[in-house]
Amino acid sequence: MKNLILASRAEKNRTVVKVNGIEVGSGLVVIAGPCSVESEEQTLNTARAVKAAGADMLRGGAFKPRTSPYAFQGLGIEGLKILEKAKKETGLPIVTEVLDPRDVSWVAEFADILQIGTRNMQNFSLLREVGRARRPVLLKRGMFSTLEEWLNCAEYILSEGNPDVILCERGIRTFETYTRNTLDLSAVPAVRELTHLPVIVDPTHSTGRLSLIEPMSMASVAAGADGLIIEVHNQPETALCDAAQALTPEMFAGLMGCLRPLQDFMNRQKNTPPTANRNEVTP
Ligand code: PEP
Ligand code: MN
Repeated sequence: MKNLILASRAEKNRTVVKVNGIEVGSGLVVIAGPCSVESEEQTLNTARAVKAAGADMLRGGAFKPRTSPYAFQGLGIEGLKILEKAKKETGLPIVTEVLDPRDVSWVAEFADILQIGTRNMQNFSLLREVGRARRPVLLKRGMFSTLEEWLNCAEYILSEGNPDVILCERGIRTFETYTRNTLDLSAVPAVRELTHLPVIVDPTHSTGRLSLIEPMSMASVAAGADGLIIEVHNQPETALCDAAQALTPEMFAGLMGCLRPLQDFMNRQKNTPPTANRNEVTP
């Protein structure tokens, strides 16, 4: 693939990103939590519930990239302080989005993983700034981006000296309107062929439909994803953002119950000799 150097599979076989003892890139990592941090009660209750169900990390936006400037924009620093409390109580590392290059250094003090959202995938000054941060970066695929464009954005971050990039497939825009986006699951094994970086899937924003989150989570794991990022809200009907596709804690616990046996099966597959493992294709 053109201009891919540091992100290329030719450089390295697999990268494992370590986040407070959790390894992204070896086994299945589940990140769960609300779309936005709305209050201490909402975030702490949700954090406790996802932790009890077996989530590995907590997500939650304090800075929200909204289509309308009049929609809820997030609580900013107050939201980050709430996430800090939730981490202190549950031990779950925090994944949160950063929108502005000027905020990267101080948001990194609260975040264990800095999320770059789909709308900012090609915000090159933001990519360079997170490339200089000492925090892993979750790079979501741009909703109109090819794999080549996406991987070149990872290259921007790596080229600034940050080796810890996690890719996230979150669906792309197509002519289909039944789903919010079209989940490009082929991207998972495809990027595996092209890069050593771990890749996770966001079944929430890609489908936008509650009924599709469980089947597409299972399909993502079967496709070889290193993890999932899923929106869960303690009271979805009151959510200020993405209410329609937030799982209840009970639904999330049910999903985790289905995922774990599949994960065990996939782990056994990974442990088969490389010649017999269809996920390990040479680029
Ligand atoms: C999010 O995960 O909070 C989000 C806004 O997702 P995306 O950038 O994929 O739309
Ligand atoms: Mn959301």
